[in-house]
Amino acid sequence: MIEVVWFKRDLRVEDHAALCAARGRVLCLHVIEPAFWRGEDASPRQWRFARAALADLRARLAALGLPLVVRVGEAVEVLADLHARHGIAALHSHEETGNLWTYARDRAVGRFCRAHGIPWREQPQPGVIRRLADRDHWAARVAAQMDAPPLAPPRGLIPCTEEPEGEIPEEPCAWNPADGLARPQPAGRAAALGLLESFLAGRGSEYRRGMSSPLTAGRVCSRLSPHLAFGSLSLREAVRRVREGLAALEAMEARARPIPPGAAQSLLSRLHWRAHFMQKLESEPALEIRAAHPAAEAARRPTAPDDARLRAWAEGRTGWPFLDACMRALIAEGWITFRMRAMLQAVASHHLALDWRASGLVLARRFTDYEPGIHWPQVQMQSAATGINAPRLYNPIKQGLDHDPEGRFIARWIPELAPLPPVLRHMPWKGEPGLYPPPLLDAAEAARAARARLAAQRAAPGFEAAARAVFARHGSRQRRLHEDDPMARRAREAARAARARRQLRLDL
Ligand SMILES: Cc1cc2nc3c(=O)[nH]c(=O)nc-3n(C[C@H](O)[C@H](O)[C@H](O)COP(=O)(O)OP(=O)(O)OC[C@H]3O[C@@H](n4cnc5c(N)ncnc54)[C@H](O)[C@@H]3O)c2cc1C
Repeated sequence: MIEVVWFKRDLRVEDHAALCAARGRVLCLHVIEPAFWRGEDASPRQWRFARAALADLRARLAALGLPLVVRVGEAVEVLADLHARHGIAALHSHEETGNLWTYARDRAVGRFCRAHGIPWREQPQPGVIRRLADRDHWAARVAAQMDAPPLAPPRGLIPCTEEPEGEIPEEPCAWNPADGLARPQPAGRAAALGLLESFLAGRGSEYRRGMSSPLTAGRVCSRLSPHLAFGSLSLREAVRRVREGLAALEAMEARARPIPPGAAQSLLSRLHWRAHFMQKLESEPALEIRAAHPAAEAARRPTAPDDARLRAWAEGRTGWPFLDACMRALIAEGWITFRMRAMLQAVASHHLALDWRASGLVLARRFTDYEPGIHWPQVQMQSAATGINAPRLYNPIKQGLDHDPEGRFIARWIPELAPLPPVLRHMPWKGEPGLYPPPLLDAAEAARAARARLAAQRAAPGFEAAARAVFARHGSRQRRLHEDDPMARRAREAARAARARRQLRLDL
């Protein structure tokens, strides 16, 4: 009999509760699932990163005396085959918060385990709590998880050596491996730890100021996202190291600090947001395909994959140069900073009135760090589909003028605009109309139409009650419902003004 440790999106040996829980003869397994990789949200750039992280995991397990068995196929079939030949006494893995495909696969694995009397011991991943009723005590429970020390890799496990290890294939399925990625991010544990250290040692000094501009963000942001997504590093490990770094910074004289403590604090906040967003999809897996708020769901109109506006947006040809430059950078680099992700998504949903699911899939494939638990709740939030977040309509021209005032980022990604003076790079139609395709729409008019659509949705009966239900399930308890929402603020101010007018009318 063997115990199987199934590595999923947790490709590390440190802080790995499933590996620590295994006893007796242990077989470490990773299943490359072609049907998963053929999914609409998967892409060659994600596979390249995962493949390198997998090779790194194999080397790290070998150092513990444990071979990593890699199989290509369906998880249930692979497990059934191992069970038939060795007998599986227990299956160990982490509780994966994945997409709907992995959710269905896990249900099938659960059925297989129950049918064969195999206990499946799933370990919580730090930051996410399964079967959570509401958000009331979530933060305290996650804080306790983060305070616990990361688990050391186990020593002395007895390897199952009868299974051939199996090659890690070049490609996981038949597909076109070229997806435009020109500058892949290095994968593996050493790269992840290196990023943490370089951030704390100085790279993060401009984090707060530089994180929003695409000119500086690639250098000053932590860039931990694909490592956290594929699990070369656990969230708890990252939090712990940043906390240690913060304590060291606070103990230093101000002028000796390589980065301001505020930068480490900001990074800690974002790591916390990671958990906050992952929890949303864990609590409601359907957020991948269904809007959180019923009014937003009712208003949805599907967008066909070959819709001309969707294609123009996805290929960086909307005629709004800064937005197009961001999309082209994302295609080539597999990463773009938060603010630009928010703008790309918001313009697709609001100005171009595209279904968030269609544009969200395009972005998912383009992100090397695609993490369903962050991605779909963020896509919904930027598309005003949650009913509990302030609708933000980013103006693609103003964003460019704010974050790339000299048009250097535009010139880099759209070289034909480089000869123009800075302001005209943002609005070439005002200078040389034939040089660049005109915008698909007038940005101001499109924004007005989007605001009117949103206002109508919010005025419908039952909107508030449904928003309260969404908030109970997913809202951060650090804020009150609608406190950051300009529409709600205006409504509160109007109500206050009306109360004041009524008071004035009272003849005391
Ligand atoms: C529409 C949209 C889709 C997104 N999709 C993804 C995705 O698929 N995968 C992904 O990792 N991030 C996603 N994000 C969140 C964020 O943009 C990225 O996490 C961040 O840009 C990654 O770069 P970094 O690691 O240098 O981040 P840093 O700023 O250095 O932050 C460190 C870590 O904190 C977490 N984090 C940072 N910002 C956020 C946030 N706003 N919400 C939740 N967690 C956050 C990430 O794990 C990140 O790696 C999305 C944001 C938007 C607006």
